[in-house]
Amino acid sequence: MAAVFERIAIIGAGLIGASIALAARESGAAGSVSIFDADPDVRRRVREMDLGGVRDAAADAAREADLVVLAVPVGAMAAAMAAAAPGLKAGAIVTDVGSVKRAVIDAVRPSLPLDAFFIPGHPIAGTERSGPEAGFATLFQNRWHILTPLSDQGDAYAAAADRLAQFWRALGANVERMDAERHDVVLAVTSHLPHLIAFNIVAMAEDLESVTESEVVKYSASGFRDFTRIAASDPTMWRDVFLNNRDAVLEVLGRFSEDLAALQRAIRWGEGEALYALFDRARRMRREVIEAGQDTDAPNFGRDS
Ligand code: NAP
Repeated sequence: MAAVFERIAIIGAGLIGASIALAARESGAAGSVSIFDADPDVRRRVREMDLGGVRDAAADAAREADLVVLAVPVGAMAAAMAAAAPGLKAGAIVTDVGSVKRAVIDAVRPSLPLDAFFIPGHPIAGTERSGPEAGFATLFQNRWHILTPLSDQGDAYAAAADRLAQFWRALGANVERMDAERHDVVLAVTSHLPHLIAFNIVAMAEDLESVTESEVVKYSASGFRDFTRIAASDPTMWRDVFLNNRDAVLEVLGRFSEDLAALQRAIRWGEGEALYALFDRARRMRREVIEAGQDTDAPNFGRDS
């Protein structure tokens, strides 16, 4: 494949940054990749892994790049952009992969040079692992990539957004465009709230005095272990998500708490029909997720036990 971008720079070499480097190389979507990470130990490991040309400063990685990808936790986006900005060439495209969009747009724009194009994005792909060793080239295959382009930016901006979409498609993703505020509400429902619930259930089980921790671990296959996988996600990343998508998360959390109270009531008053109707509706949603190709149909997520 002909490269979509001659040279790309990745700022932040964790799960997502490393996966972009691997996928760009394997697909041929980028001619060359330069990488910077704030952590010297990560830079050393990335050099050993040979993911691309590692630089010791963000501006050096960004120099001459046609595309700069900010792949750091949401709370570090402002610092990453400010550090990369002095190296940006005129006409460079800057994107990010942050799980929250409005707060990242507000964080990045103040230090964005006037002659660069910022097109925010979010790959709906990931795992509970972090660090460059967790990255893999097929992470974005058949997954959605949401772009939230800024409005009314002119033809050159629109062309840059098209080119970025082409890059993500070359990495195997399906690209969708959305308004940043809409993105933050949708993701609060599909990702942020489920993670909050998982963190809470796992912490609660550890605290419950009536069961011991060893029993929780021993019988975890009865449902709990699926929550522990989600709750194993990076604490820095998730702290930043909740601090930066506060309004949307509080909105859906309010609705969730009300519905939970209704369930509590149905259990207390033995309202079997109400419980059945809700569980049946939830089961249909699972079928839709599988039909949309977003998960495996194999029982127990394809595990042996
Ligand atoms: P990660 O594995 O923890 O990697 C992030 C890397 O960025 C770390 O090595 C971190 O170093 C480094 N970093 C922090 N501040 C920096 C800075 N100012 N300049 C350069 N490097 C910096 O994180 P990730 O899972 O790849 O997530 C990266 C972004 O993708 C986040 O915004 C997240 O919301 C988003 N995202 C994640 C997933 C997922 O499933 N993980 C999915 C979609 C989107 P230190 O460890 O020293 O801070």
